[in-house]
Amino acid sequence: MDLEKPDLYRLADDDRRLTLRAGRCAACDALIFPLSPYGCTACGAEPSALTEEPMPGRAQLLTFITIHQRLAPGITPPCVVGEARLANGEIHEIMLAGTGDLYTDDMQLEAVATEITRGDTPLIACRFAPVEA
Ligand SMILES: [Zn+2]
Repeated sequence: MDLEKPDLYRLADDDRRLTLRAGRCAACDALIFPLSPYGCTACGAEPSALTEEPMPGRAQLLTFITIHQRLAPGITPPCVVGEARLANGEIHEIMLAGTGDLYTDDMQLEAVATEITRGDTPLIACRFAPVEA
């Protein structure tokens, strides 16, 4: 099955978790996500200064809301959207798996492979879920 956004993540060895495709900057040592075709988003170094580096899909949930309108094709409401601090410290908007009652602020999350369909095509999307004990 193909990934929905192969430029952002890869399937981890366990076939369940996702590893994020980040880039390490040779000039300032920042780990940036996503890998940018325009170079380092921290110091402005040229794209050639970036080396792809896998980043664990761990995140800390900061806040979240449940959205009941249709946002985009392939996303069936209600869906839960949050802001989370990723492993490199950056804050990103993320999509959460399941329903809002699974979540509390400050919870630890991990990126997991989630099957969606776009048209008739099944794809692996990136959703964040509570870390399994
Ligand atoms: Zn840099």
